[in-house]
Amino acid sequence: MDSALMSNYRRFDLAFERGEGPYLYADNGRRYLDFAAGIAVAALGHCQPHLTAALKAQADRLWHCSNLYIIPEQERLAQRLAGATFADRVLFCNSGAEAVECAVKLVRKYHDDNGNPERYRVIAFNGAFHGRTLATIAASGSPRHLDGFDPVVDGFDHVAFGNLNEVRAAITGETGAIMVEPVQGEGGVNAASDDFLIGLRKTADEFGLLLIFDEVQSGMGRTGKLFAHEWSGITPDVMAVAKGLGGGFPIGACLATEAAAAALTPGSHGSTFGGNPLAMAVGNAVLDVMLDDGFMDGVNGVAAYLDGRLKALTAKYPGQIEGLRGRGLMRGLKLTTDVRPMVGTLVEQGLLTVPAAEDVLRLVPPLIIAEEHVDEAALILDRAFAGLADMAA
Ligand SMILES: *Cc1c(COP(=O)(O)O)cnc(C)c1O
Repeated sequence: MDSALMSNYRRFDLAFERGEGPYLYADNGRRYLDFAAGIAVAALGHCQPHLTAALKAQADRLWHCSNLYIIPEQERLAQRLAGATFADRVLFCNSGAEAVECAVKLVRKYHDDNGNPERYRVIAFNGAFHGRTLATIAASGSPRHLDGFDPVVDGFDHVAFGNLNEVRAAITGETGAIMVEPVQGEGGVNAASDDFLIGLRKTADEFGLLLIFDEVQSGMGRTGKLFAHEWSGITPDVMAVAKGLGGGFPIGACLATEAAAAALTPGSHGSTFGGNPLAMAVGNAVLDVMLDDGFMDGVNGVAAYLDGRLKALTAKYPGQIEGLRGRGLMRGLKLTTDVRPMVGTLVEQGLLTVPAAEDVLRLVPPLIIAEEHVDEAALILDRAFAGLADMAA
């Protein structure tokens, strides 16, 4: 197709005109079960009525006024996020990369304010993904994302994910923070062990480092807790959030403790659109649903059911599936082959999934799916893996 768009995306030849719950309807007349959810964004499914109503009501009142003024819905969302987490303060932006960028700026300013401007380096992990700005591709450290964009933004050191000894060995007098995804998303759906996160917390305290969690993908109920790190019982100093927070409306947020947040004094950071009334109305509506009694129980119930179906598939197709990864409704099937053809086959059969790394089939369905949707997905996956097994035979 001739397109005036830049060609930075490899797209399917497929356009959707409508979404409802866990389904998308394409202009070709077909229905698709959406286990991609816009890459873990449409956490409450498509066109969730409470979110739609909140957005429409706000659209009739006020769209934008800038952070020059008080935005009541922004105050309210910040209060609620702080109330539900370790954080005392929240800064709103528009994307995950901006939330991470804010976290990294905060590290530099925090140590600068404390008389240690040399402590600007951040220890990050192999397989990390933190976004696509110049600083966040440096934080990710993936050659695939850095290629052609030299010089690399300075200040990031990478060690093996899950290896506390390597973390400790990498700490120098210039280290200011450790940044980790509690469950790596793009890197292949790798969940950090609770012990590893606990070890990072202890190490950060021992060396006076800030601990940053990038929960852009793993947060907002994705693993069955509001944030994935809650499973480990420890908390970070700073956390990046986005994706599910807006349920499909662009929002990002950087959350921090009072001590860390104090670095961002008036004028030190900002965003024209960050925390805009439309985004805040939707964010509050998302929290209305997610903080409701029983919501996470529902997520954990259907996640356990999905786990059972995925374990059965893994056992049935050992030649095609090497292992099952992830937590809650953030799951990955590590394949023995390149994942992209499989994702394509599944699209043809009406199931949307996302590749992670080279060989991991990522399943990040809306959190509102029921067992019947898991059954429908499992049936399609079974057929697709049977096809792969036939081809191999
Ligand atoms: C998607 C993602 C980002 C980047 O978010 P954008 O909204 O695309 O900028 C950062 N960190 C993690 C863990 C992500 O999954």
